[in-house]
Amino acid sequence: MSDRSDRTRLIASATRRGAARRPVSPPVERASTLLNDRPGDIRDETAGAVYGIEDLSAARQLRAALADLEGAADAWLVPSGLAAVTVPLTALLRPGDEVLATDALYGPSRRFLNRHLKARGMATAFHAPDASVEDILAAMTGRTRLLLIESPASLTFELVDVPALAAACRERGVLTVMDNTWAAGLAFRPLAHGVDVSVQAVTKYVGGHSDLLMGSIAAADPAIARQIAETIEDLGWRVSPDDAWLALRGIRTLPLRYAEQARSALAVAEWLQTRPEVAQVLYPALPDATGHDLWRRDYTGAASILGLAMNGGSEASAHALMSALELFGLGYSWGGFESLITHETGQLAFRRAPPQLVGELLRLHVGLEDPADLIADLERGLAAWTAAIR
Ligand SMILES: *Cc1c(COP(=O)(O)O)cnc(C)c1O
Repeated sequence: MSDRSDRTRLIASATRRGAARRPVSPPVERASTLLNDRPGDIRDETAGAVYGIEDLSAARQLRAALADLEGAADAWLVPSGLAAVTVPLTALLRPGDEVLATDALYGPSRRFLNRHLKARGMATAFHAPDASVEDILAAMTGRTRLLLIESPASLTFELVDVPALAAACRERGVLTVMDNTWAAGLAFRPLAHGVDVSVQAVTKYVGGHSDLLMGSIAAADPAIARQIAETIEDLGWRVSPDDAWLALRGIRTLPLRYAEQARSALAVAEWLQTRPEVAQVLYPALPDATGHDLWRRDYTGAASILGLAMNGGSEASAHALMSALELFGLGYSWGGFESLITHETGQLAFRRAPPQLVGELLRLHVGLEDPADLIADLERGLAAWTAAIR
């Protein structure tokens, strides 16, 4: 990493001097077979990829850009953010090992632990999403091999003290894997804070346009990195050249989109805090939010995703609010240019200890629209919410 800023480095990697005249962005190379001029060249790995299952130019440039952000020697690409979580766990755990994770873990990651790993002899324990370092360490047993960190966690956005946890885990020989999707690889650097493996859903902010699925994985220690690389090789996973090309296009503007969306999200969050329909806005960048002090200490930015704990209501009033909105799309995922809303109350039932909210839970993703227009839209939604309750 040079001392230039992220936004400069992510663009300068495209304009670096090269051998020949070339487009700014690499071509999309679709290939299974790669042809050679001489029989002896077919297996020659010193001259680049020998088969299409290896990453070609766009994927290689994307890996280099992600590795630069992560402060790692390399970053690996897998076909989804979920695969970025499941690959390191598959690579690093053995039957009899135990995993410890937050109770507010991303739902499909939790399903992988409770179904796939459990069936193969690896148990998981869950800690409270806002647990102290002491409480998390106390929840470990002699068999705990790995702490899976997601901070801020999904839906309710609690933080844990990652640097302190990483240091304590290293001392005990417990591995740490962090799902850093919220920080987009930008606003928090897991490896620099002592975490062993940093993963993110490239699907979200790096892709940035809701048109691809991908995950990335980076590790500081060469032995851990090798186990992850070999697992990807063994499983036969690769990403499509078209998706790699789109993600490479997305990463050039990542810092600007991320910062602008955070600015809008804070404006929307502050407005929502003044509304009587809303009991609590769950967003770490708000001064009174759970985990705000940790966020201020460790993060250089915020995602644009908020939890809305409503005052009372029902599924019907939540749906009335969502139906009345014109600018918020109804659908999963986040990190794209467009605003989205989902109703999440039902998801809390999967937790070991669901939070005691006073009403319905909604999730807002704030996109790149003008925040004043989004607020006007939400005002319309809240009126429909109130009308549905009466
Ligand atoms: C979306 C998400 C993932 C999974 O990403 P996909 O590409 O949709 O599989 C993983 N972790 C977190 C925290 C996410 O929000």
